[in-house]
Amino acid sequence: MDNKFHFRNWLERENKSKQTISKYVRNIERISEEYGEHYNKEINLYHISNPEEIEDIKMDYLSIDKFRKKNLRFHREYSSAMSIYITFLRKSEVNFIDEIKRDLDSEASEDDAYYKEGAVKQYYGKRYERNPENRKKAIEIHGLSCIACGFDFEEVYGERGKDFIEIHHVKPLSTLGEEVVIDPEKDLVPVCSNCHRMIHRRKDNVLSIEELESLINLRK
Ligand SMILES: [Zn+2]
Ligand SMILES: [Zn+2]
Repeated sequence: MDNKFHFRNWLERENKSKQTISKYVRNIERISEEYGEHYNKEINLYHISNPEEIEDIKMDYLSIDKFRKKNLRFHREYSSAMSIYITFLRKSEVNFIDEIKRDLDSEASEDDAYYKEGAVKQYYGKRYERNPENRKKAIEIHGLSCIACGFDFEEVYGERGKDFIEIHHVKPLSTLGEEVVIDPEKDLVPVCSNCHRMIHRRKDNVLSIEELESLINLRK
């Protein structure tokens, strides 16, 4: 994947001026060209996502005599463009890994065993969502299509998807030990697996059905 687009976005988020951004972006392209010409092969720094690799290229590039002697100003600009590109790669990698860790954590948080007693104010256990009686009643009342996006498993997967839907418990529980009486009409809704994960993706910000619907509608 080409990093140029992401690099530009990141520079914008870092509040760099338009002029600075286009200078950095362009310089990375020029370095790719010159460096590639020097070694007589196709090189595009935007196709490289490993910051260590760019670090090596930077060291090598800066040590090549003909570039060093050519123009001191360009030499400095190129060097700082590569440094900032390396910073970008390092940060985006870190952010991505953090994001994956958060996702795994939010998945785990749907299991009762995740929480220690009194550790959280509100939690959404899977206890009620997985209970077969609750599921049966909810399906009888609400049907088998996702309440947020309309997805129907049988329509898409045929026999394999027949009678399948996930059930979401819309009310958070306030303590782990708490037992609540479920009203399948008000408390339970059918949701497809995609919508269900998006609802629970942030364990400290579980979306309401209305919030999820408005996200979906925004993109339509
Ligand atoms: Zn859905
Ligand atoms: Zn749920």
